[in-house]
Amino acid sequence: MQPFKRLLVKLSGELLGGENIVFSAPYLDALCNAVSALKQSDRELAFVVGGGNIWRGRDAERLKIDSTDADYVGMLATAVNGLMLKSVFESRGIGTELVSSFNIDGIACRKHPSEVRELIKQQVVVFVGGTGMPHLTTDTLAAIRAVEIGADTLVKLTKVDGVYDKDPEKYKDAKKFDRISFDEALQKRLEIMDLAAFELLRDHHISVAVIKGTDPKALTRFVDNPQEGTLVLPTVEV
Ligand code: UDP
Repeated sequence: MQPFKRLLVKLSGELLGGENIVFSAPYLDALCNAVSALKQSDRELAFVVGGGNIWRGRDAERLKIDSTDADYVGMLATAVNGLMLKSVFESRGIGTELVSSFNIDGIACRKHPSEVRELIKQQVVVFVGGTGMPHLTTDTLAAIRAVEIGADTLVKLTKVDGVYDKDPEKYKDAKKFDRISFDEALQKRLEIMDLAAFELLRDHHISVAVIKGTDPKALTRFVDNPQEGTLVLPTVEV
């Protein structure tokens, strides 16, 4: 089977924005190009999009609002991002289906996983709404959806270029891992994503790629050369 055939891409909301703008036109353009290239190479693609360019629940205190209410605002923010992704993808001829964890009448609705597994063969699927539950994260949703659609790899697009043994912004001698096993990552307490999400992926043998997503071309480079970023695998042969 083709490696990296069915990908679940976790796209952090902050990557979509620019300085003082919610949506960066050059970023969305570059993302469309990367998605087109992946579709042309016969890949099946789903996105789980965050909402950090609009709002994050953790900023509740700043506005002195209830933290649960703040999370609901965050979940709706992910839906705004998903609708924008669908709009830009479709304007470039990329068929896209928006699937939400809660119904947003006329815009996005819930779908049974078996329907999504069929849809993804033709279209890009964008999952929004978080898990639909406060106090959880889009990483958790990404892991659950990756299992549901039978993805072989979850690609986490972030602002850093992989997983390090310590914070590369604080420590000059921080070492990047090219490949690491789930068990080693857990042993070393590397914070790649929420523990429950990470263990769910491990238990379903779904690899995790952490790559720098500030340039969406990294996605296409990654499928050709998985040395880009860090690949977390069920087992790593030494
Ligand atoms: N959120 C939530 N439950 C979820 C997923 C997300 O309550 O299952 C809320 C939470 O407030 C979070 C916000 O939605 O801060 C946006 O998601 P996230 O911070 O994961 O977005 P990202 O940082 O990836 O852009």
